[in-house]
Parts: sequence; C-alpha cells; structure tokens
Amino acid sequence: MSEPSFNDYTLSDDIRRALDSMGYAKPTEVQSKVIPVALQKKDMTVKSHTGSGKTAAYGIPICELVEWEENRPQALILTPTRELADQVKEDMMNIGRFKRIKATAIYGKQPFARQKIQLAHKNHVVVGTPGRVMDHIERDTIDLEQVRYLVIDEADEMLSMGFIEQVEKIIRELPKDRMTLLFSATLPKDVERLCHKYMKQPLDIEIQTAGRTTSQIEHALYTVKDDDKLNLLRDVATVENPDSCIIFCRTQVRVDVVFKELHKHGYPCDRIHGGMEQDDRSQVMNAFKRGGVSIPDRDGCRCEGHRHRQYQSRDQLRFSPGKRELRASDRQNRTSRQQGQSDLLRHAERRKIRDQCGAIRRI
Ligand code: AMP
Repeated sequence: MSEPSFNDYTLSDDIRRALDSMGYAKPTEVQSKVIPVALQKKDMTVKSHTGSGKTAAYGIPICELVEWEENRPQALILTPTRELADQVKEDMMNIGRFKRIKATAIYGKQPFARQKIQLAHKNHVVVGTPGRVMDHIERDTIDLEQVRYLVIDEADEMLSMGFIEQVEKIIRELPKDRMTLLFSATLPKDVERLCHKYMKQPLDIEIQTAGRTTSQIEHALYTVKDDDKLNLLRDVATVENPDSCIIFCRTQVRVDVVFKELHKHGYPCDRIHGGMEQDDRSQVMNAFKRGGVSIPDRDGCRCEGHRHRQYQSRDQLRFSPGKRELRASDRQNRTSRQQGQSDLLRHAERRKIRDQCGAIRRI
C-alpha cells in the first residue's frame, strides 16, 4: 500500500501551505485515519496518546471545515488542562494561519472579563477547560449556537480530574447537528457511556502505540525510605548532573517541600502546581525552556507532558509517581530522545512501576 499523503485529502491551498510551513510532510497514523472521516463530518472515538499527532488530526479537518465568514464559534474543543488549551489554540492558529482562523483559549485562573471580551469578538474556534466553559455558558458570555464541531480531548484525563459531569452538561448546551470527536488514551466505562449517549454511531479508531518506553531511555529504580528521599534526590542530582531536570511530585505540598529543600541547598529551581496563577505557571514554563530546574506537581506534570517534546536531553526524576505521573512520563518517553530517568520510590510502588514502565535498572 502506498504511503499516506496530505494530497489524499480534499484540503484547500491555505491549509496545505500551513502544513508545509509547519514541516508536516506526511500524515501520522492517527491523522491518516481521522482526517478523511472527519472531513465527512462523522463522529469518532479515537484511542491515541499525546505525541501521536492527535491535535492536528482534528485540527486539520476543523480548520478546513469552518466557514471564515461566520463570526460566532463553530468549533469547541474541551481540554483537561489550561496548558493543553493554550497549546491546542496555538496549533489551531498555525494550521489555520493562511485561512486566518481565529481561536481563543478560555480557562480558570485568568480574568473572566478579559475572556468575555475575547469571546465577544470573531472566533472560529474556542478551546477551553470544562469549568471555565461552563462559567461562560452560565453567565451567557459565550454563544454556542453555531457550534458544528465538538472535540473532547484527553477524555480519560477529564474523567480522572472529575470534569466528566461538566463535559456532559456542556454537550447538552450544544446544537445536536454537529460532529463530535472524542480522543482518549484509554476508554474507561464512563467515557464509553458518554460516547454512546452523545455521539451518532461513532467510528472507533485505535492507534497502536509502540512500547511504552523507547530504547534510548534508561530507567533506574532506587529503593529508599521516605525520610531519605530528599537526601538521595540531592545525591542523584549531583551524580547525574543534568543540564536541567523535571521532578514530578504527587501533591502541591510535596512540590513545595522539594522546592524549598533544593532551593535551600542552592539548586537553581522553580516550581509549578495547580494552585498557582496561570501567568506564574507560564513564566516558570518559559524559564524552564530556557534552562533551569522545575518541580511540578501532578497538575504540572500533565501540562509538562505536552511540552516535553520540546525538551531534548532533559532528565526526569520522580517522587512517588502515581498513575498520572507515569502517563506523563510515558508521553515524554515517546517524544523525547536520550533521556535518563530516575525514580525514588516507596517499596509498594515498585511493582506498579515495573508493570507500567518495563525494564528498569535497579540500584
Ligand atoms: P500531538 O500528539 O498533537 O501533541 O503532536 C505531537 C507533535 O507532533 C507536535 O509537536 C506536532 O507539531 C507534531 N506533528 C503533528 N503532526 C505532524 C506531522 N504530520 N508531521 C510532523 N510532525 C507532526
């Protein structure tokens, strides 16, 4: 069979030029499966991970399908985190650059009034987290009457963050005559139920991902008592001597403890977690991209997961990772190169790690 090509799809010159300028020579697997079906406005559930090119898989057909002349939003994209909302917005603006697609991101911890003004302007695409989208619906500051395309991105994350009821409420506010695309790394029962209830005979697509860890990544496991973790962390940081590194913690409190400890010992570090204002989080993210040490909590690690592809040759240390942290690590594993990764774990967590991460060097 011949290789898939963007020429296989009915795309306007504006979109093709944008893909060229973004360096997208050919569709990824998820794109080759999703784009032709979405261009026919059919509902789909897509099992795929970040790093597979899923944003463009829905972004390309949506940018193609929206009518430039319409001033009110035609596409609504729901994401679990603010950072993902921002990133999706950027991707939509890039794909729709020559068509002059306007996209707005709305999420919490940003002034409502500013978003209200943005929403009153021309927008083809609105990307938002469920809570803030619902706020705008309740205060009548978003017009959803013309929404023809709904994307629920990272549906399993929405579920684990407790957003699924809000997602359902939002869906009920939308016109019934629409295409719905749902993307999720896994399809838990509640997500499946959502699909059956609100989608029209969705086509189920599953993207087979390669192994959870790539051969370029070395995993190491340190068995350590809880009280000794911080000392070991400092030792590991000294031995590994990374240019920069990300440390994942399970809670905001833990982020603060690790941050203070490292700071006290002179490590140039910063922190992000869900309790911080978005502008502060963005500042830390930007500083990290320029070089530094950042200590996100699990909210942070989800957002970092999306950015990891930009961080080449970075190391990652984790404190008591839970399922989500593993997933974030997995995202990074698929998209980064030559990274070392060390885990400081409680005994009970080792089996979980082994099951999910595959081969680990024990130290
Ligand atoms: P995503 O899974 O949407 O987070 O995308 C992962 C990365 O792949 C992003 O950096 C995209 O810019 C990039 N990407 C998406 N589609 C393509 C493509 N067709 N060719 C090259 N890179 C792509």
